[in-house]
Amino acid sequence: MALLLEVEDLKVAFDTPRGTVRAVDGISFAVEAGRTLGLVGESGSGKSVTSLAVMGLHHGATVTGSIRLHGQELTGLGERELGAVRGRRIAMIFQDPLSSLHPFYTVGEQIAEHYRVHFRAGRKAGRAKAIEMLAEVGIPEPARRVDEYPHQFSGGMRQRVMIAMALACEPDLLIADEPTTALDVTVQAQILDLIARIQQDRGLGVVMITHDLGVVARVAHEVLVMYGGRAAEQAPAERLFAAPAHPYTRGLLDSLPRLDDGDDAPLRAIPGSPPSLLAPAPGCSFAPRCARTTAASAEEHARCLAERPPLDRLGPPTAGHLAACHLPLVPEGIV
Ligand code: SF4
Ligand code: MG
Repeated sequence: MALLLEVEDLKVAFDTPRGTVRAVDGISFAVEAGRTLGLVGESGSGKSVTSLAVMGLHHGATVTGSIRLHGQELTGLGERELGAVRGRRIAMIFQDPLSSLHPFYTVGEQIAEHYRVHFRAGRKAGRAKAIEMLAEVGIPEPARRVDEYPHQFSGGMRQRVMIAMALACEPDLLIADEPTTALDVTVQAQILDLIARIQQDRGLGVVMITHDLGVVARVAHEVLVMYGGRAAEQAPAERLFAAPAHPYTRGLLDSLPRLDDGDDAPLRAIPGSPPSLLAPAPGCSFAPRCARTTAASAEEHARCLAERPPLDRLGPPTAGHLAACHLPLVPEGIV
């Protein structure tokens, strides 16, 4: 499969009155056509900032590193050139479609407008494209609903409209930032299935940003787990779920609801709060929340507090498994 997006050593920093916030501090990943990368982390982990940097929407931030789309370097491009890439070759959908849709225009006008700007198409062609797109995203009676307004659609249907709008320009890459977080579980599954189907039909590369490993399990081929602006763990999805090596990944997995939990089981979460991006601790940023280092020897614990763990390879090179932990978990039977 063709390499679509390559991000290398991306750093995004913001100057604030209280100091420099290193929102993203050196992450690398690649997305192939027809594949989905799951970008996972809590809020403040840097996952959304990463995607905004890829879109060139990182106003006021200092961005270093490399972002290449089809081999073309995007960092350093001017606003006009970036505008051509954004929306045309990379499209984005967000958690809350209502805030991205204009209440006073019909959904058809909004899908068509996007398309007409990028393809210099006329009104009639724009409307035809809008109907075609509504049909593709599974909205019944598209020829009628094209003239309706956003408030006439349910939350799930509005997210379908957003997907239609994003895909009207036939992008190569779709960045989906928590696209199903606001939806109930059934609708969530339908939207994820829709994205997966369209991805197969179009050979689209997808970056799925989420705090929910359950979403990742459903759609992702590769996974990047972010913590405090850095990569905690990266691996093909199958391997990550079979052999999570980083205690943070393990914590996220343990906090997933399970079928055998029963209805009134409490939701588990990883105790503690995300690290400061203003004044990161010298050692591992997960240390204050890490049960593994607490249980380790005094010597190992001291190392976790003093030395930042590098992102090291686990297992054979072909496994494509990386983790930033001095004491990675390695389950039996997995090399
Ligand atoms: Fe926990 Fe130490 Fe690994 Fe950090 S390096 S995740 S503190 S065991
Ligand atoms: Mg976010």
